[in-house]
Amino acid sequence: MLLSQETGTVARSNQDHSMKDRSKIAFNLTKIFGSNVFNDRTMKERLPKDTYKALKETIEKGAPLTLEVANVVANAMKDWAIERGATHYTHWFQPLTGRTAEKHDSFISPTVDGGVVMEFSGRQLIQGEPDASSFPSGGLRAAFEARGYTAWDCTSPAFLKEDAAGNVTLTIPTAFCSYTGEALDKKTPLLRSMDAVSKQAMRVLRVLGNQTTQHVTPTMGPEQEYFLIDKKYYDQRIDLITAGRTLFGAQAPKGQELEDQYFGAIKDRISAFMKDLDIELWKMGVSSKTKHNEVAPAQYEMAPVFATVNIAADHNQLVMETMQKVALRHHLVCLLHEKPFAGVNGSGKHNNWSLATDDGLNLLEPGKTPHDNEQFLVFLSALLTAVDRHADKLRAGAANTGNDLRLGANEAPPAVVSIFLGEELTDILVALGKGKAASSKGQHFLQIGVDSLPRLPKDNTDRNRTSPFAFTGNKFEFRMVPSSASISGANTVLNTIVAEALDETATRLEKAKNIHKETTAIVKEAVNQHGRIIYNGNNYTDEWLKEAKKRDLPNIRSTVEALAAMATPAAEKLFEKYKVLTKEELQSRYEVYLEKYAKDINIEARASVDMVKKLYLPAVIQYTSELASAIARLRSVGAPSSVQKALLGKISSLLDSASNKLDALEALAQKAQNIREACPGAKAFRDKVVPAMNGLRSDIDALESLLPASLWPVPSYADMLFKL
Ligand code: ADP
Ligand code: MG
Repeated sequence: MLLSQETGTVARSNQDHSMKDRSKIAFNLTKIFGSNVFNDRTMKERLPKDTYKALKETIEKGAPLTLEVANVVANAMKDWAIERGATHYTHWFQPLTGRTAEKHDSFISPTVDGGVVMEFSGRQLIQGEPDASSFPSGGLRAAFEARGYTAWDCTSPAFLKEDAAGNVTLTIPTAFCSYTGEALDKKTPLLRSMDAVSKQAMRVLRVLGNQTTQHVTPTMGPEQEYFLIDKKYYDQRIDLITAGRTLFGAQAPKGQELEDQYFGAIKDRISAFMKDLDIELWKMGVSSKTKHNEVAPAQYEMAPVFATVNIAADHNQLVMETMQKVALRHHLVCLLHEKPFAGVNGSGKHNNWSLATDDGLNLLEPGKTPHDNEQFLVFLSALLTAVDRHADKLRAGAANTGNDLRLGANEAPPAVVSIFLGEELTDILVALGKGKAASSKGQHFLQIGVDSLPRLPKDNTDRNRTSPFAFTGNKFEFRMVPSSASISGANTVLNTIVAEALDETATRLEKAKNIHKETTAIVKEAVNQHGRIIYNGNNYTDEWLKEAKKRDLPNIRSTVEALAAMATPAAEKLFEKYKVLTKEELQSRYEVYLEKYAKDINIEARASVDMVKKLYLPAVIQYTSELASAIARLRSVGAPSSVQKALLGKISSLLDSASNKLDALEALAQKAQNIREACPGAKAFRDKVVPAMNGLRSDIDALESLLPASLWPVPSYADMLFKL
């Protein structure tokens, strides 16, 4: 299910265009949106009626797909793609690297007379067999058993990818698994978790008396934050090129303290990028909707209209890829790293999640009187239960190297998972928890105090920007997800833990004599047992951390610590029970992600060493010798040189210190790298290498603030953040 795009608003957001241009964009947009997608509309047009019907049965109800149907679909897809200039097709999948993978095959098949015909069979559509030996598998598949299979995910439409060179590729979203059927990717568990939560939600709906809904799907709108910097600066920074973030850099005189970037007017150069980005995304059916300046200088955000979570995950991959591609066309580089610059906000992905039914209900819609909305209260209770019980797994789903620099670092949500519900819902739950009658506040209107302004209906929750898991009116916003990561991991966890809570609810209700009494008991118990997860205050304060400790909520500060939650018997039981991940699949992910962490830090350490040896030390040494000569010359003519001497003294002692720290860092990184086992290895990188890198950075940054700008070998923070 892909939700419709409100095309009218696009013309309005492009106010800097002339009237003529504006109408052209509005007109074109409805035409170009989805023009590169083999979507429902195209399938209806191009497929014979019975094939279309059979395929729809598979997409909507998971009915088995026959090879006969696949052959007809493949042929129609091929014709459609070739008409639009495609020469190749690819099975597009999402290995555990977190990004996507594709291998292109042309449609050609040689004929006996020396020519070619264009072919694409049903088998080629539904199954691929890439050499899987070079993807991380965490021991699920030895390199000599290279077989991996890709299987068509027909619930996410095939589309055409175009590149600047004019290549057009029919791109088929697929799941990726091993010869023995283990999931080697991020999509398979996500699809399994969608089934799990759908099944349990359906049981709850049925027992509550809903006989019309056939299917429930998790919906997802991921807001994507990113930075843009000029490519000429990027090219001079080995840290950005290899590690995705700056490993050095003294603070610019200005940061984000004036709060003048957030929602500020968008500069023309950025706006040109955003326009191009929108067009590329719209063509591929990605419903790019919102764009704005974010809090940090040079930081931006885009959000699509929400979609079914597996489509949202595919689309978010396209968003990240297209942002990076389009930026280059504008001589910009798009940084997706969670913390590209120290001292200003980093980037995250806000995951807006809800459950929708095929007949158009949002199961997290409280309505005007949430206190007597039994269905809503049951689903809300399931979320409280799930998040409280499995906060550690949710945190693990949002862990990556870059996020260690964000979570708990006084900007993004803290490392403690809690839920924001707002005053009204909290009051209702507190009353229900005590077994008392609850009431809703009803519709309120804002008093603005100016008669000419319209009366605005007031939402029943205020915003809380500091909460990691906030109820925002009719959905939950999980704000811990890393900006550079796939959203699949976090949503696989979320779907699964909610499935478990709904399963328990359904089982109780199915056995209950009086449904109404039982729902009241379920809500009451959820509030009393899991109410500690609710926190409506400022999550960035120390008071909250103290309070969270009192409530015994886990405060998990690092990736290494977070990932451990996925390697416990409790996690195995949960993910096996709902057939989302087997013990082996879980274990493999644990290892792959730990190794990824160690490799990330190792790259950072090597880039640090490289920059210090080849750029910073030579520049500092050059300057110290210039200063020394200047002092000698001044002395020879009897002129005062105390300023120069003092400066030389300061710089020389920093140089000395940096040089020692450099040696220490190299040795520690080598030592950590020699550790064979994944967990102790990752811990050595976290506990030894990261602090050594930070120590070295502080000396180098201090030197940057003492040396003439003309001698500093790399672009400064001010260059990168403010010169766009
Ligand atoms: P804000 O930054 O104010 O939180 P945005 O407009 O940037 O809001 O993003 C909100 C996101 O939430 C959008 O992607 C939107 O489509 C999505 N969303 C809205 N309703 C739902 C829903 N029922 N399920 C999932 N996502 C939703
Ligand atoms: Mg937003």
